[in-house]
Amino acid sequence: MSHISNPMEIYKLLNGSNCKECNEKTCLAFAVAVFKEKKSIHACPYLEKEVIERYGGAIEKPNTVDEYKAEAIEELKQKVSLTDLSDAAKRLGAGFSNNKLTIKIFGKEFSVDTRGNISSEVHINAYMAVPALNYILNGSGKSPNGNWITFRELTGGPPRFAHFQQRCEKPLKRVADTYTDLFKDMLEIFDGKRIVSHIDSDISIILYPLPLFPIMVCYWKPEDGLEPDLHIYFDSTSDDNLDIESIYTFCEGFALMFEKIALRHGVQ
Ligand code: SF4
Repeated sequence: MSHISNPMEIYKLLNGSNCKECNEKTCLAFAVAVFKEKKSIHACPYLEKEVIERYGGAIEKPNTVDEYKAEAIEELKQKVSLTDLSDAAKRLGAGFSNNKLTIKIFGKEFSVDTRGNISSEVHINAYMAVPALNYILNGSGKSPNGNWITFRELTGGPPRFAHFQQRCEKPLKRVADTYTDLFKDMLEIFDGKRIVSHIDSDISIILYPLPLFPIMVCYWKPEDGLEPDLHIYFDSTSDDNLDIESIYTFCEGFALMFEKIALRHGVQ
């Protein structure tokens, strides 16, 4: 295990994007907080496992990204228990009965009751639960307007855009390049709708991770020496209903799910 003797040694391990996902204003502030043992090095989701293993124990007690997500869910559940869910249901146009607010995640029912207990038709992991609870707590209820924009154009998108490409679009594209049934599965498993897109993609699919938060996945097949490409677009009202970290988390979870599905089908 490597020894850390000053904050700059930690800073050099970080990607310098100042994306704030660790809840610190800058990577440097994060490095200082880690050095002072006020923060765990695991709070930066962009460190390689190997780096965490090498330096994690040298500066603080281990804590995994999954544990952070579990803590976030518990905090959000508590906030939900202090919220008027029938008001939230009216604001979001969601169902409310028997003290439970129900929305649909990818077309499947997800409910939370007035005590913050979650129930769902399908297995809901932290990548889905955190954004869904944030949506219930803070979503404005604004309806999508059909104006599609990139992640970079969303409020708070620019500093996270490189990570979004790296952790969301690229993995999905890798799967799409080799796994031809990807889009068929998107339609079937996630209740997607195929559309003819205005941006000339070969395949365009609209999915509803949340009722007022649609995404459009567009894929361009390789052609005449051109590389294949994949992009995810968002309705321009998305950031009225979901904060940028929740949008990122949802997309990252979505890409991870598809990697798993592809692996099950034998795609490397
Ligand atoms: S999450 Fe990582 S990359 Fe982002 S600001 Fe914090 S330390 Fe820097």
